Amino acid sequence: MTSARDPRYDCLFEPLAIGPVTTPNRFYQVPHCNGGGYRDPTAVARMREIKAEGGWGVVFTEQVEMHHSSEISPYIELRLWDDNDIPMLAKMSDSIRSGGALAGIELAYPGINGPNLYTREVPMAPTAMPVRTYTNDPVSARSMTKRDIANLRQWHRAAFRRARTAGYDLICLYGAHGFGVIQHFLSTLTNHRTDEYGGSLENRSRLMRELISDAKDEVGDTMGITLRLSLHELVGDLGFTNEEVRELVGMNGSVPDLWDLAHGSWEDCSGASRFKEEAAQHDLVKGIRELTDRPIVGVGRFTSPDVMVKQLKTGVLDLIGCARPSIADPWLPRKIDEGRVSDIRECIGCNMCITGDTTMSLSRCTQNPTFMEEWRRDWHPEIMNAKGASENILVVGAGPAGLEATHALGKRGYDVVLAEALETLGGRVSLESTLPGLSAWGRVRDYRTWQISQLGNVNVYPDNELSADDVLEFGSDHVALATGSHWRRDGVSRYHVKPIGTQGSLPVYTPDDIMGGTKLTGKVVVFDDDHYYMGAVIAEQLAKDGATVVLVTPSAYVSEWTLNTLEQGFIHKRLLDNNVGIMRNCAVTQLMSGAVQCTDTYSNIDSTLDCDSIVMVTSRLGNDALWQALSARESEWIDYGIKSIQVIGDAQSPAPIAWATFAGHRFARELDEPVRNGTESPLPFRRELARLAD
Ligand code: ADP
Ligand code: SF4
Repeated sequence: MTSARDPRYDCLFEPLAIGPVTTPNRFYQVPHCNGGGYRDPTAVARMREIKAEGGWGVVFTEQVEMHHSSEISPYIELRLWDDNDIPMLAKMSDSIRSGGALAGIELAYPGINGPNLYTREVPMAPTAMPVRTYTNDPVSARSMTKRDIANLRQWHRAAFRRARTAGYDLICLYGAHGFGVIQHFLSTLTNHRTDEYGGSLENRSRLMRELISDAKDEVGDTMGITLRLSLHELVGDLGFTNEEVRELVGMNGSVPDLWDLAHGSWEDCSGASRFKEEAAQHDLVKGIRELTDRPIVGVGRFTSPDVMVKQLKTGVLDLIGCARPSIADPWLPRKIDEGRVSDIRECIGCNMCITGDTTMSLSRCTQNPTFMEEWRRDWHPEIMNAKGASENILVVGAGPAGLEATHALGKRGYDVVLAEALETLGGRVSLESTLPGLSAWGRVRDYRTWQISQLGNVNVYPDNELSADDVLEFGSDHVALATGSHWRRDGVSRYHVKPIGTQGSLPVYTPDDIMGGTKLTGKVVVFDDDHYYMGAVIAEQLAKDGATVVLVTPSAYVSEWTLNTLEQGFIHKRLLDNNVGIMRNCAVTQLMSGAVQCTDTYSNIDSTLDCDSIVMVTSRLGNDALWQALSARESEWIDYGIKSIQVIGDAQSPAPIAWATFAGHRFARELDEPVRNGTESPLPFRRELARLAD
């Protein structure tokens, strides 16, 4: 295809040497987890291959545990413990290289971050102390002896050779986010040694230099050796600070072939859009490039080519590092190259992708429902399956499920009508994007409405609430009901499976009321038995409106599920900053006039909390009235020419936005398709099974 690239973006497409290898452009997919790892290697390989096909010049694996003496189970990454792991890793590098990218492998020795729950080896660290893991595992790491350090170097040498055998172009040594042994040696937080590996920065960086020197010795003639470091540990004076990072780079400028610089902890580096802007680490990385003659890559949830160009032109970065933007749009570089910037599916910074790792399941992306389904279901993020025998599809409801279904069906070539009751499209994302910190949610709507507007075979009718008669009279071949959900007012969720008891009268609201513009004053209780982001966001909104707010939750954590999205600590702090009172391990158990009764979840002791109103952030119910009316008339469908009516998204079962875009996409993909395998209860995706031992 003739490139119609805007010349402003040319600098993003200049090649650059990284040691002995050369990346074709400046788009660098930094290592990122995906929840699949060694359990789903072919799914991971295909996911990476599509990124290479989409124009990323460099594509890395997730962290690869390079020796069995240090591993982070239950989290599922990749492993390079012996030669048996080489074929799996070779499959990955083959896939990446077949798409034209440099294949990178990130080698990690987790050390004090590895509890070794699977291998049962005793963890090792620069200095003996309890392991530092998300789950505070009751395990300690022992202090490494000189012999251990020598062994560690030998193990790395073996891993370097295996990485080359597996066909990689780049090796990244992981020393960032508190997850890699190099950082543990560099930081006075974890290194209290008094020998030549402790004390001065010169000493603390000795292992780093030795490992890179060993790597150069083993494979440096054919592979680039990169070093991934945190730009600032952000843990006060003890930690590895930004000043020390600059000193380190100044002292060792030419040691690695590339400096890969990431923010502090993973929470900082992968900051959700509620808490971190695009290019958030700019000030921490600015100026480091002047301290070294080696290229620098940095991240920052970059989705705008103009921001990327600025990073290069102002000399802050040489390469644009992306994890989440490459997940949301694996073809981002290619779209810039082809002059299709408006087609970029921008990451919304929700961190749902990270939950694949933290829940050890499989990553999903709110914006890109095909993520990790590229091989499992043969879903390509840009190419739809061919149109089937049906012609006309009616989609009811223009939330994320309806918009995604409409877009994907339109791309397949069906004639699609999308009817929406409201004047505005977007459903819940339009409502939620008005809440504090959630404006990026609007990108879910904006990407899809723009794409739909480019399709001649799709007609959109806002301000059109359809009844069962309307749907039947429409007479399309198939109907998708994406009519969404609403928040319950009666408090039913997990703690209460029946409505909360009431004595007297207390005004009760839901997030729908607040998103609809209701302003509350006085003392307001937010009862959060939903545990994702909504309770805290509503509390923040009410506090900003001037109410005195107390958030009550039966959980030990505010917004407990956001532990999985790495937001929980930021959310708690933001509530404190907004003077929101917090009552944990506590449930609202009775509504009274001017007060609620609260019950401690452990002691069952009741207390009274005065308030003027309560907002129930407890659970949602699907809007299924239209479906009920239509299913009651199923015998008539055939008379109107309707072959099927299906409920999708929140209307079927309320869940996060990513579930809705997935449901919309799945509906579109599977329409008119034969059932896979043709068995009675077919598995809707492929999977890999462990090979049984002889
Ligand atoms: P989801 O997350 O499943 O996409 P949303 O709640 O975001 O669900 O969106 C549902 C959309 O469906 C809303 O914009 C709502 O106005 C619309 N809707 C609900 N019922 C009807 C109907 N009978 N006719 C047309 N649109 C409807
Ligand atoms: Fe971005 Fe959310 Fe997709 Fe992750 S899940 S890539 S944060 S849109």
